[in-house]
Amino acid sequence: MKDREPAVGGARDLDRAAEWIRRGARVVAFTGAGISVESGIPPFRGEEGLWRQVDPSFIEIDRFCAEPLDSWRKIREIFYEHFGHARPNAAHEALARLERAGFLHAIVTQNIDYLHQDAGSRSVVEFHGQSKQLRCLSCDRTVPAEAPLLEKLPPRCTCGGLFKPDFVFFGEPIPAKAAESAFALAETADLMLVVGTSGEVMPACQIPLAAAARGVRIIEVNPVPSAFTPRITNLFLQGKAGPVLSSLAGRVLGMSGGDGEPA
Ligand code: NAD
Repeated sequence: MKDREPAVGGARDLDRAAEWIRRGARVVAFTGAGISVESGIPPFRGEEGLWRQVDPSFIEIDRFCAEPLDSWRKIREIFYEHFGHARPNAAHEALARLERAGFLHAIVTQNIDYLHQDAGSRSVVEFHGQSKQLRCLSCDRTVPAEAPLLEKLPPRCTCGGLFKPDFVFFGEPIPAKAAESAFALAETADLMLVVGTSGEVMPACQIPLAAAARGVRIIEVNPVPSAFTPRITNLFLQGKAGPVLSSLAGRVLGMSGGDGEPA
């Protein structure tokens, strides 16, 4: 679907990306772990990735059900003690500003950290669920993932069932509602902004591919090329999400006269 080789970064490309966003009627962002790296949350893959240090089997659903205490000890340490205090960074804030000003229709995120909502984004589809709440595997009740429950592991529901973080573990399906909303957005977007994702996780990577297959332009932000870059990216803005999205949002909003209202 690519109409030419992707262009790489630079002020002119930022200007062009800003112009496309301003002209788009239904711009959708698709984000991955990379957008939260500047908030102190490492990605899973790559040189700095979590899976270089930790064996990911503790979030395989079968292992979790078989050895909940063992899995929960790692889950609490990594997802609640280490990452739990992360705050949104300039990239999350830039997307929230674009949405408020009417230039961004929705975000589909693979992240489970809730930082888009903490930054003020409202229209967010969490393709892989989120870590802020726990779900009972027996009665399906959800509760906030808060201190008293996380003190005695593994956390148990009042029905006696086992609580699990409400994000998708390896071996689990994508929540039907999230999958439906995400692919509906891919089918109706007229521009997609792909930020901080390797494009290697299935089926999430199908979302930008589905948009590109309809001829939708893809703007990508990443310090290094991803699996998407040679396949579908029309404009590659090389760099970290924080500075690149801040500059981009500044250009989009500046062009509208600086008051944040779409022209
Ligand atoms: P990934 O770990 O496969 O890839 C991360 C991508 O981010 C890479 O392409 C890398 O080059 C890029 N990146 C690194 N630093 C960046 C920066 N400062 N700015 C922009 N990009 C940067 O991530 P993925 O493709 O999202 O897939 C991993 C899966 O793991 C996802 O499904 C996600 O649910 C989950 N995950 C979530 C979080 C989170 O919630 N913050 C963190 C780690 C993993």
